[in-house]
Amino acid sequence: MRITQTREIAAAKRLENVRYAIRDLVCFADEVTKQGHKVLALNVGDPNIFDFETPPHLIEAVYKAMREGKNGYAPSQGIKEALDAIRGEAARKGITSVQDVFVTTGVSETVDVCLAALLNPGEDILTPCPDYPLYSAVLAKLGIGVNTYYLNEENGWQPDLDDIRRKITPRTRGIVLINPNNPTGSVCTRAMLEEVAELARQHNLVILADEIYDKLILDDDPHVCFAAVAPDVPAVTFGGLSKNYLAPGWRIGWGIVSGEPAAVKPYDDGIQKLLRARLSANHPEQYAIRPALEGPQDHLIEVRRKLRSRRDLTVQWANSTLRVSCVPPRGAFYAFPRIDIPEGDDVFVKELILQKHVMAVHGSGFGQKPGTQHFRIVFLPDEKTLSRAYAAIGEFLKERYS
Ligand code: PLP
Repeated sequence: MRITQTREIAAAKRLENVRYAIRDLVCFADEVTKQGHKVLALNVGDPNIFDFETPPHLIEAVYKAMREGKNGYAPSQGIKEALDAIRGEAARKGITSVQDVFVTTGVSETVDVCLAALLNPGEDILTPCPDYPLYSAVLAKLGIGVNTYYLNEENGWQPDLDDIRRKITPRTRGIVLINPNNPTGSVCTRAMLEEVAELARQHNLVILADEIYDKLILDDDPHVCFAAVAPDVPAVTFGGLSKNYLAPGWRIGWGIVSGEPAAVKPYDDGIQKLLRARLSANHPEQYAIRPALEGPQDHLIEVRRKLRSRRDLTVQWANSTLRVSCVPPRGAFYAFPRIDIPEGDDVFVKELILQKHVMAVHGSGFGQKPGTQHFRIVFLPDEKTLSRAYAAIGEFLKERYS
Protein backbone atom coordinates (compact mmCIF):
# COMPACT_ATOMS: atom_id res chain seq x y z
CA MET A 1 0.00 0.00 0.00
CA ARG A 2 1.28 3.46 -0.88
CA ILE A 3 1.32 5.91 1.99
CA THR A 4 0.67 9.40 0.76
CA GLN A 5 1.48 12.42 2.79
CA THR A 6 -1.21 15.13 2.93
CA ARG A 7 0.11 18.28 1.37
CA GLU A 8 -1.80 21.42 2.24
CA ILE A 9 -2.95 23.67 -0.56
CA ALA A 10 -1.96 27.08 0.73
CA ALA A 11 -4.23 30.06 0.06
CA ALA A 12 -2.62 33.06 -1.62
CA LYS A 13 -0.47 35.07 0.80
CA ARG A 14 -2.16 38.34 -0.09
CA LEU A 15 -5.38 37.02 1.51
CA GLU A 16 -3.72 37.42 4.92
CA ASN A 17 -4.88 41.04 4.77
CA VAL A 18 -8.47 40.22 3.77
CA ARG A 19 -10.63 40.75 6.82
CA TYR A 20 -14.35 41.28 7.05
CA ALA A 21 -15.09 41.62 10.75
CA ILE A 22 -18.85 41.97 10.23
CA ARG A 23 -19.24 38.41 8.99
CA ASP A 24 -16.08 36.89 10.53
CA LEU A 25 -17.72 37.37 13.95
CA VAL A 26 -20.68 35.25 12.91
CA CYS A 27 -18.58 32.05 13.19
CA PHE A 28 -17.89 32.97 16.80
CA ALA A 29 -21.57 33.71 17.50
CA ASP A 30 -22.54 30.38 15.90
CA GLU A 31 -20.64 28.60 18.68
CA VAL A 32 -22.69 30.48 21.27
CA THR A 33 -25.89 29.60 19.40
CA LYS A 34 -24.87 25.91 19.41
CA GLN A 35 -24.74 26.10 23.19
CA GLY A 36 -28.46 26.90 23.08
CA HIS A 37 -28.43 30.71 23.35
CA LYS A 38 -30.29 33.07 21.05
CA VAL A 39 -27.85 35.75 19.88
CA LEU A 40 -29.26 39.21 19.22
CA ALA A 41 -27.53 40.34 16.03
CA LEU A 42 -26.66 44.03 15.77
CA ASN A 43 -23.88 43.30 13.31
CA VAL A 44 -25.25 43.06 9.76
CA GLY A 45 -26.81 45.98 7.90
CA ASP A 46 -29.62 43.90 6.39
CA PRO A 47 -32.95 45.70 6.84
CA ASN A 48 -34.93 42.65 5.71
CA ILE A 49 -33.95 40.69 8.83
CA PHE A 50 -35.99 43.27 10.77
CA ASP A 51 -39.33 45.02 10.16
CA PHE A 52 -38.50 46.39 6.70
CA GLU A 53 -39.86 44.85 3.52
CA THR A 54 -38.99 45.21 -0.14
CA PRO A 55 -41.69 47.38 -1.81
CA PRO A 56 -44.19 44.95 -3.48
CA HIS A 57 -44.13 46.71 -6.86
CA LEU A 58 -40.43 45.86 -7.15
CA ILE A 59 -41.08 42.20 -6.37
CA GLU A 60 -43.80 42.17 -9.02
CA ALA A 61 -41.40 43.63 -11.60
CA VAL A 62 -38.79 40.92 -10.98
CA TYR A 63 -41.41 38.17 -10.95
CA LYS A 64 -42.84 39.42 -14.24
CA ALA A 65 -39.36 39.54 -15.79
CA MET A 66 -38.71 35.95 -14.72
CA ARG A 67 -42.07 34.79 -16.05
CA GLU A 68 -41.40 36.56 -19.34
CA GLY A 69 -38.18 34.64 -19.80
CA LYS A 70 -35.60 37.30 -18.84
CA ASN A 71 -33.52 34.52 -17.33
CA GLY A 72 -30.55 34.46 -19.67
CA TYR A 73 -27.50 36.70 -19.39
CA ALA A 74 -28.10 40.44 -19.55
CA PRO A 75 -25.97 42.88 -21.59
CA SER A 76 -22.68 43.37 -19.70
CA GLN A 77 -23.32 47.03 -18.99
CA GLY A 78 -26.92 46.45 -17.91
CA ILE A 79 -30.38 46.37 -19.54
CA LYS A 80 -31.40 49.53 -21.40
CA GLU A 81 -34.39 50.45 -19.26
CA ALA A 82 -32.25 50.25 -16.11
CA LEU A 83 -29.45 52.32 -17.64
CA ASP A 84 -31.98 55.00 -18.70
CA ALA A 85 -33.47 55.03 -15.19
CA ILE A 86 -30.00 55.38 -13.61
CA ARG A 87 -29.27 58.33 -15.92
CA GLY A 88 -32.56 59.87 -14.76
CA GLU A 89 -31.54 59.32 -11.14
CA ALA A 90 -28.15 60.92 -11.83
CA ALA A 91 -29.96 64.01 -13.15
CA ARG A 92 -32.15 64.15 -10.01
CA LYS A 93 -29.00 63.93 -7.90
CA GLY A 94 -27.74 67.00 -9.79
CA ILE A 95 -24.95 65.29 -11.76
CA THR A 96 -24.63 67.32 -14.96
CA SER A 97 -21.53 65.66 -16.45
CA VAL A 98 -22.57 61.99 -16.71
CA GLN A 99 -20.38 60.12 -19.19
CA ASP A 100 -21.55 56.56 -18.60
CA VAL A 101 -23.59 54.35 -16.28
CA PHE A 102 -23.44 50.61 -15.58
CA VAL A 103 -25.18 47.93 -13.51
CA THR A 104 -23.36 45.57 -11.14
CA THR A 105 -24.00 42.62 -8.83
CA GLY A 106 -24.43 44.90 -5.82
CA VAL A 107 -22.31 47.91 -4.94
CA SER A 108 -19.83 45.29 -3.72
CA GLU A 109 -19.06 44.59 -7.38
CA THR A 110 -18.95 48.30 -8.24
CA VAL A 111 -16.23 48.65 -5.59
CA ASP A 112 -14.34 45.66 -6.97
CA VAL A 113 -14.50 46.78 -10.59
CA CYS A 114 -13.73 50.46 -9.94
CA LEU A 115 -10.66 49.66 -7.82
CA ALA A 116 -9.40 46.93 -10.18
CA ALA A 117 -9.80 49.18 -13.25
CA LEU A 118 -7.89 52.05 -11.61
CA LEU A 119 -4.89 50.79 -9.71
CA ASN A 120 -1.49 49.48 -10.82
CA PRO A 121 0.88 47.74 -8.41
CA GLY A 122 2.66 50.39 -6.32
CA GLU A 123 -0.20 52.90 -6.60
CA ASP A 124 -2.79 53.60 -3.94
CA ILE A 125 -6.18 55.15 -3.25
CA LEU A 126 -7.08 56.93 -0.02
CA THR A 127 -9.79 55.14 1.96
CA PRO A 128 -11.44 56.42 5.12
CA CYS A 129 -10.54 55.19 8.60
CA PRO A 130 -12.85 53.93 9.99
CA ASP A 131 -14.17 52.47 6.75
CA TYR A 132 -16.51 49.86 5.34
CA PRO A 133 -14.08 46.91 5.33
CA LEU A 134 -14.84 45.73 1.78
CA TYR A 135 -12.54 48.47 0.44
CA SER A 136 -9.45 47.20 2.25
CA ALA A 137 -10.43 43.59 1.49
CA VAL A 138 -10.60 44.28 -2.27
CA LEU A 139 -7.33 46.24 -2.14
CA ALA A 140 -5.67 43.30 -0.36
CA LYS A 141 -7.05 40.96 -3.03
CA LEU A 142 -5.50 43.18 -5.71
CA GLY A 143 -2.18 43.28 -3.86
CA ILE A 144 -2.49 47.05 -3.31
CA GLY A 145 -1.34 48.52 0.02
CA VAL A 146 -3.87 50.58 1.98
CA ASN A 147 -3.44 54.32 2.47
CA THR A 148 -6.08 55.55 4.90
CA TYR A 149 -7.21 59.02 6.01
CA TYR A 150 -8.92 59.64 9.29
CA LEU A 151 -12.49 60.68 9.82
CA ASN A 152 -12.44 63.17 12.67
CA GLU A 153 -14.65 62.12 15.60
CA GLU A 154 -14.27 65.57 17.18
CA ASN A 155 -15.75 67.08 14.01
CA GLY A 156 -18.81 64.81 13.62
CA TRP A 157 -16.70 62.17 11.79
CA GLN A 158 -16.10 64.50 8.80
CA PRO A 159 -13.01 63.61 6.72
CA ASP A 160 -9.82 65.09 8.20
CA LEU A 161 -8.63 67.27 5.31
CA ASP A 162 -5.17 67.87 6.76
CA ASP A 163 -4.69 64.14 7.04
CA ILE A 164 -5.80 63.66 3.41
CA ARG A 165 -3.30 66.35 2.32
CA ARG A 166 -0.51 64.62 4.27
CA LYS A 167 -1.28 61.21 2.78
CA ILE A 168 -1.48 62.16 -0.93
CA THR A 169 1.69 61.01 -2.71
CA PRO A 170 2.67 60.96 -6.40
CA ARG A 171 1.38 57.36 -6.45
CA THR A 172 -2.09 58.24 -5.13
CA ARG A 173 -4.80 57.84 -7.81
CA GLY A 174 -7.98 58.64 -5.93
CA ILE A 175 -10.04 59.12 -2.78
CA VAL A 176 -12.94 56.99 -1.56
CA LEU A 177 -15.76 58.98 0.07
CA ILE A 178 -18.46 56.95 1.83
CA ASN A 179 -21.33 59.40 2.24
CA PRO A 180 -23.50 58.69 4.26
CA ASN A 181 -20.84 56.75 6.04
CA ASN A 182 -20.67 53.19 7.26
CA PRO A 183 -19.78 52.68 10.18
CA THR A 184 -20.25 56.20 11.63
CA GLY A 185 -23.53 57.38 10.05
CA SER A 186 -21.91 60.74 9.26
CA VAL A 187 -22.90 62.77 6.20
CA CYS A 188 -20.43 65.06 4.41
CA THR A 189 -21.16 68.78 4.37
CA ARG A 190 -21.18 70.64 1.04
CA ALA A 191 -18.15 72.66 2.18
CA MET A 192 -16.26 69.42 2.86
CA LEU A 193 -17.10 68.04 -0.60
CA GLU A 194 -15.90 71.29 -2.19
CA GLU A 195 -12.58 71.01 -0.34
CA VAL A 196 -12.13 67.37 -1.40
CA ALA A 197 -12.93 68.35 -5.00
CA GLU A 198 -10.22 71.02 -4.87
CA LEU A 199 -7.67 68.44 -3.73
CA ALA A 200 -8.77 66.09 -6.52
CA ARG A 201 -8.24 68.88 -9.08
CA GLN A 202 -4.79 69.74 -7.72
CA HIS A 203 -3.57 66.13 -7.70
CA ASN A 204 -5.49 64.67 -10.66
CA LEU A 205 -7.42 62.18 -8.48
CA VAL A 206 -10.56 60.13 -9.16
CA ILE A 207 -13.27 60.26 -6.49
CA LEU A 208 -15.16 57.04 -5.76
CA ALA A 209 -18.31 58.36 -4.10
CA ASP A 210 -20.14 55.52 -2.35
CA GLU A 211 -23.63 57.00 -1.90
CA ILE A 212 -25.53 53.73 -1.37
CA TYR A 213 -27.38 55.28 1.63
CA ASP A 214 -28.20 58.64 -0.01
CA LYS A 215 -31.98 58.40 0.57
CA LEU A 216 -31.60 57.40 4.22
CA ILE A 217 -30.87 60.87 5.60
CA LEU A 218 -32.27 61.26 9.10
CA ASP A 219 -32.00 65.03 9.64
CA ASP A 220 -33.42 67.96 7.69
CA ASP A 221 -30.35 68.94 5.65
CA PRO A 222 -30.58 67.15 2.29
CA HIS A 223 -27.84 64.82 1.04
CA VAL A 224 -25.31 66.52 -1.22
CA CYS A 225 -23.91 64.39 -4.04
CA PHE A 226 -20.18 64.79 -4.66
CA ALA A 227 -20.40 64.64 -8.46
CA ALA A 228 -23.07 67.36 -8.43
CA VAL A 229 -20.75 69.68 -6.49
CA ALA A 230 -17.78 68.93 -8.78
CA PRO A 231 -18.98 68.05 -12.31
CA ASP A 232 -15.46 68.56 -13.71
CA VAL A 233 -13.75 66.09 -11.33
CA PRO A 234 -13.47 62.46 -12.52
CA ALA A 235 -15.84 60.49 -10.30
CA VAL A 236 -17.84 57.30 -10.06
CA THR A 237 -20.96 57.58 -7.89
CA PHE A 238 -22.21 54.29 -6.42
CA GLY A 239 -25.87 53.46 -5.77
CA GLY A 240 -28.04 50.36 -5.50
CA LEU A 241 -31.18 48.58 -4.38
CA SER A 242 -29.79 47.00 -1.17
CA LYS A 243 -30.45 49.81 1.29
CA ASN A 244 -32.68 52.56 -0.16
CA TYR A 245 -34.98 49.96 -1.74
CA LEU A 246 -34.68 47.22 0.90
CA ALA A 247 -33.57 44.44 -1.45
CA PRO A 248 -30.01 43.46 -0.45
CA GLY A 249 -30.46 39.83 -1.54
CA TRP A 250 -31.08 40.82 -5.14
CA ARG A 251 -27.47 42.04 -5.40
CA ILE A 252 -28.14 45.04 -7.62
CA GLY A 253 -25.86 48.07 -7.67
CA TRP A 254 -24.65 50.61 -10.21
CA GLY A 255 -22.02 53.18 -11.01
CA ILE A 256 -22.36 56.64 -12.59
CA VAL A 257 -19.19 57.85 -14.30
CA SER A 258 -18.87 61.65 -14.47
CA GLY A 259 -16.26 64.32 -15.24
CA GLU A 260 -14.64 65.74 -18.35
CA PRO A 261 -15.31 63.24 -21.22
CA ALA A 262 -11.72 62.94 -22.47
CA ALA A 263 -10.36 62.58 -18.94
CA VAL A 264 -12.62 59.73 -17.83
CA LYS A 265 -12.79 57.79 -21.11
CA PRO A 266 -9.73 55.52 -20.62
CA TYR A 267 -10.81 54.69 -17.07
CA ASP A 268 -14.39 54.00 -18.18
CA ASP A 269 -13.07 51.77 -21.00
CA GLY A 270 -11.20 49.76 -18.34
CA ILE A 271 -14.36 49.44 -16.24
CA GLN A 272 -16.36 48.27 -19.28
CA LYS A 273 -13.68 45.71 -20.14
CA LEU A 274 -14.00 44.17 -16.66
CA LEU A 275 -17.80 44.23 -16.89
CA ARG A 276 -17.67 42.29 -20.15
CA ALA A 277 -15.24 39.76 -18.67
CA ARG A 278 -17.75 38.85 -15.93
CA LEU A 279 -20.62 38.53 -18.48
CA SER A 280 -23.45 40.38 -16.70
CA ALA A 281 -25.07 41.40 -13.44
CA ASN A 282 -28.19 39.51 -12.25
CA HIS A 283 -30.69 39.78 -15.06
CA PRO A 284 -34.32 39.61 -13.83
CA GLU A 285 -33.55 41.77 -10.78
CA GLN A 286 -32.45 44.60 -13.08
CA TYR A 287 -36.12 45.00 -14.02
CA ALA A 288 -36.71 46.42 -10.54
CA ILE A 289 -34.36 49.36 -11.13
CA ARG A 290 -36.74 51.50 -13.18
CA PRO A 291 -39.80 50.98 -10.94
CA ALA A 292 -37.57 51.64 -7.91
CA LEU A 293 -36.13 54.91 -9.18
CA GLU A 294 -39.19 56.19 -11.05
CA GLY A 295 -42.09 54.66 -9.09
CA PRO A 296 -43.60 55.54 -5.70
CA GLN A 297 -41.08 56.36 -2.98
CA ASP A 298 -43.62 56.07 -0.13
CA HIS A 299 -41.71 53.35 1.71
CA LEU A 300 -38.87 55.81 2.36
CA ILE A 301 -41.09 57.99 4.58
CA GLU A 302 -41.78 55.04 6.88
CA VAL A 303 -38.18 53.77 6.76
CA ARG A 304 -36.81 57.17 7.77
CA ARG A 305 -39.42 57.56 10.52
CA LYS A 306 -38.43 54.23 12.06
CA LEU A 307 -34.72 54.92 11.67
CA ARG A 308 -34.98 58.40 13.25
CA SER A 309 -36.72 56.99 16.30
CA ARG A 310 -34.18 54.13 16.62
CA ARG A 311 -31.25 56.49 16.08
CA ASP A 312 -32.56 58.80 18.81
CA LEU A 313 -32.98 55.90 21.22
CA THR A 314 -29.43 54.72 20.45
CA VAL A 315 -27.81 58.11 20.93
CA GLN A 316 -29.78 58.80 24.10
CA TRP A 317 -28.71 55.46 25.56
CA ALA A 318 -25.07 55.84 24.52
CA ASN A 319 -24.68 59.38 25.80
CA SER A 320 -26.27 58.58 29.17
CA THR A 321 -24.22 55.43 29.78
CA LEU A 322 -20.98 55.44 31.72
CA ARG A 323 -17.89 54.78 29.51
CA VAL A 324 -19.89 55.28 26.28
CA SER A 325 -20.26 58.35 24.03
CA CYS A 326 -21.63 58.66 20.52
CA VAL A 327 -21.60 61.22 17.71
CA PRO A 328 -25.24 61.25 16.51
CA PRO A 329 -25.49 59.51 13.12
CA ARG A 330 -27.15 61.68 10.45
CA GLY A 331 -27.70 58.98 7.83
CA ALA A 332 -27.81 55.22 7.16
CA PHE A 333 -28.48 52.90 10.13
CA TYR A 334 -25.17 52.64 11.96
CA ALA A 335 -23.81 54.19 15.12
CA PHE A 336 -20.16 54.02 16.13
CA PRO A 337 -20.02 54.73 19.87
CA ARG A 338 -16.71 55.26 21.59
CA ILE A 339 -15.99 53.16 24.68
CA ASP A 340 -13.58 53.95 27.43
CA ILE A 341 -12.37 50.51 28.54
CA PRO A 342 -9.01 49.12 29.68
CA GLU A 343 -8.88 46.34 27.05
CA GLY A 344 -9.26 45.97 23.29
CA ASP A 345 -12.68 46.41 21.72
CA ASP A 346 -12.26 42.98 20.07
CA VAL A 347 -12.21 41.42 23.56
CA PHE A 348 -15.18 43.61 24.56
CA VAL A 349 -17.25 42.41 21.61
CA LYS A 350 -16.44 38.71 22.08
CA GLU A 351 -17.15 38.79 25.81
CA LEU A 352 -20.40 40.64 25.10
CA ILE A 353 -21.49 37.80 22.79
CA LEU A 354 -20.42 35.13 25.30
CA GLN A 355 -21.94 36.72 28.37
CA LYS A 356 -24.97 38.68 27.11
CA HIS A 357 -25.57 37.12 23.67
CA VAL A 358 -25.56 40.49 21.93
CA MET A 359 -23.45 40.79 18.78
CA ALA A 360 -22.00 44.17 17.78
CA VAL A 361 -18.80 44.64 15.74
CA HIS A 362 -15.50 45.84 17.24
CA GLY A 363 -14.20 49.22 16.10
CA SER A 364 -10.83 47.73 15.18
CA GLY A 365 -12.66 45.76 12.44
CA PHE A 366 -13.22 49.10 10.66
CA GLY A 367 -9.99 50.84 11.67
CA GLN A 368 -9.80 53.65 14.22
CA LYS A 369 -7.30 56.11 15.67
CA PRO A 370 -4.69 54.40 17.86
CA GLY A 371 -5.64 54.57 21.52
CA THR A 372 -9.39 54.77 20.84
CA GLN A 373 -11.95 51.97 21.15
CA HIS A 374 -15.36 51.77 19.50
CA PHE A 375 -18.05 49.33 18.51
CA ARG A 376 -20.54 49.48 15.67
CA ILE A 377 -24.24 49.10 16.28
CA VAL A 378 -26.77 48.46 13.52
CA PHE A 379 -29.90 50.23 14.80
CA LEU A 380 -32.34 48.47 12.44
CA PRO A 381 -34.17 46.39 15.14
CA ASP A 382 -37.36 47.79 16.67
CA GLU A 383 -37.25 49.94 19.80
CA LYS A 384 -38.16 47.08 22.14
CA THR A 385 -35.35 44.88 20.85
CA LEU A 386 -32.85 47.73 20.88
CA SER A 387 -33.79 48.65 24.47
CA ARG A 388 -33.23 45.02 25.51
CA ALA A 389 -29.83 45.00 23.78
CA TYR A 390 -28.77 48.31 25.34
CA ALA A 391 -29.85 47.20 28.82
CA ALA A 392 -27.69 44.08 28.36
CA ILE A 393 -24.69 46.10 27.13
CA GLY A 394 -25.12 48.54 30.05
CA GLU A 395 -25.16 45.65 32.53
CA PHE A 396 -22.11 44.11 30.88
CA LEU A 397 -20.15 47.38 31.11
CA LYS A 398 -21.01 47.69 34.80
CA GLU A 399 -20.17 44.09 35.64
CA ARG A 400 -16.90 44.02 33.73
CA TYR A 401 -15.42 47.47 34.23
CA SER A 402 -16.68 49.05 37.47
N1 PLP B 1 -20.91 50.22 0.42
C1 PLP B 1 -21.26 50.43 1.69
C2 PLP B 1 -20.83 51.69 2.35
C3 PLP B 1 -21.99 49.49 2.41
O1 PLP B 1 -22.32 49.72 3.68
C4 PLP B 1 -22.39 48.30 1.75
C5 PLP B 1 -23.14 47.24 2.47
O2 PLP B 1 -23.35 47.27 3.65
C6 PLP B 1 -21.99 48.11 0.42
C7 PLP B 1 -21.26 49.09 -0.21
C8 PLP B 1 -22.35 46.85 -0.33
O3 PLP B 1 -23.63 46.97 -0.84
P1 PLP B 1 -24.31 45.89 -1.82
O4 PLP B 1 -25.30 45.13 -1.00
O5 PLP B 1 -24.98 46.72 -2.88
O6 PLP B 1 -23.23 45.03 -2.36
